[in-house]
Amino acid sequence: MGFFGHFYDPVHTMTSCNRAQEWEQLVLRLQRELTALDREERLWIQQNLHHIQTLQRQLHQLFCMAGGPEICARCAGSCCEHGHNHMTLVNLLAAQLEGCLPQADFSCSCPFLGDSGCALPAAVRPYNCVTFICEAIEAAMDTEQRLRFYRLDQQLRELYQLFDQRYAASSLRGLLIASRRLGNVPLLSRC
Ligand code: SF4
Ligand code: SF4
Repeated sequence: MGFFGHFYDPVHTMTSCNRAQEWEQLVLRLQRELTALDREERLWIQQNLHHIQTLQRQLHQLFCMAGGPEICARCAGSCCEHGHNHMTLVNLLAAQLEGCLPQADFSCSCPFLGDSGCALPAAVRPYNCVTFICEAIEAAMDTEQRLRFYRLDQQLRELYQLFDQRYAASSLRGLLIASRRLGNVPLLSRC
């Protein structure tokens, strides 16, 4: 789950240097768009991000109760390979508004994988990462915890979908992929 999610990266041709530049430009671009946003739109984002962050913290708590951090540390984050595209518009917005965006290192299997696991706080981690639990962690949960985990996952997905329906660059496929499709269209343009 949370520390470390294996997902297919379709952009094999990009070098880590290209990706790093592209990411830096995206971070600046979104920051500019956020600054220019009207009060009402910003409020909508803040309120819905608050719900997302609350659910992500609850999911992470269940992960920790199952001994996830210790289990993942022994596994050395094997499911964090190919994490380049996990960050979505939702996650970058949350990290920017919270002021907790770590430096991305695109030479790593995931740009946010540090020596002691994920450098992103659980509340702003990608959906794919906070909702993935492998068999080892699922087996360490009791039935009630497991059911709660999957209920929270469903609620969280619905909140991400609200952003997908509202903003051009919002997609669970990730912000890098969505922004290439958009070209110069603003990331926060309304659908
Ligand atoms: S963002 Fe990267 S390092 Fe963090 S949990 Fe996801 S795949 Fe792992
Ligand atoms: S223990 Fe499971 S969730 Fe944790 S890093 Fe390994 S494969 Fe991923």
